[in-house]
Amino acid sequence: MTDPALAARLHDVQAGIADAARAAGRSADELTLIVVTKFHPASLVSALAELGVRDVGENRHQEAQAKAEELAALDLHWHFIGQLQTKKARQAARYARSIHSIDRERLVDALADSEFDPATTEPIDAFLQVNLTEDPGRGGVAPAGLEALAERVLATSTLRLRGVMAVAPLEEPAAEAFARLAGYSERLRALDPAATAISAGMTHDYVEAIAAGATHLRIGSAITGNRPEPR
Ligand SMILES: *Cc1c(COP(=O)(O)O)cnc(C)c1O
Repeated sequence: MTDPALAARLHDVQAGIADAARAAGRSADELTLIVVTKFHPASLVSALAELGVRDVGENRHQEAQAKAEELAALDLHWHFIGQLQTKKARQAARYARSIHSIDRERLVDALADSEFDPATTEPIDAFLQVNLTEDPGRGGVAPAGLEALAERVLATSTLRLRGVMAVAPLEEPAAEAFARLAGYSERLRALDPAATAISAGMTHDYVEAIAAGATHLRIGSAITGNRPEPR
């Protein structure tokens, strides 16, 4: 049974995305909506799937793994968007088709697999998370390290470099932060013209992200409603 309020919120966000794309002179077809379902039960993910959602985002490995296993029959595209421990990387690679939080060379190395066979297995879509603040404690590679990290991904056959990812800092207008991110995306495309994706935009800043060129929106609470307390 699908909750009509969930359907209405999904529809509102889809309409908001279409409006923002139009205002930016872009086509909504260029945009992938990833519904962030963290802390919500698997039943919410299956309700979203019934409404046509194919792309879902999770930020904690154990929770993501459990839901992906339970819902394997739905064949969803699971996006891993949170901090990923090196020692969990290989496990996350079994269910995640995209990882948005590639932020260090050790993590790239942990995702490498000498037995990887491109004839039978798709590589994982890799987004390089860039830190848009001066605080090294926040997630993401410092902008100065972007090219080195990208080269490492390009040398790793299990990964396909897709683009950049970032979370806008709270302490500055999102549009300014996303403008910097667009510049990092250009730097990445100078290395690999195929790495065109920009993963940016959440519930409160997806309009600004679309205006700045985002291609992958990670939207949670505007669609799912308030998150339960993390367990
Ligand atoms: C939780 C989360 C989101 C979604 O946040 P909302 O504000 O609920 O839309 C997006 N990206 C990341 C990395 C997150 O952790």
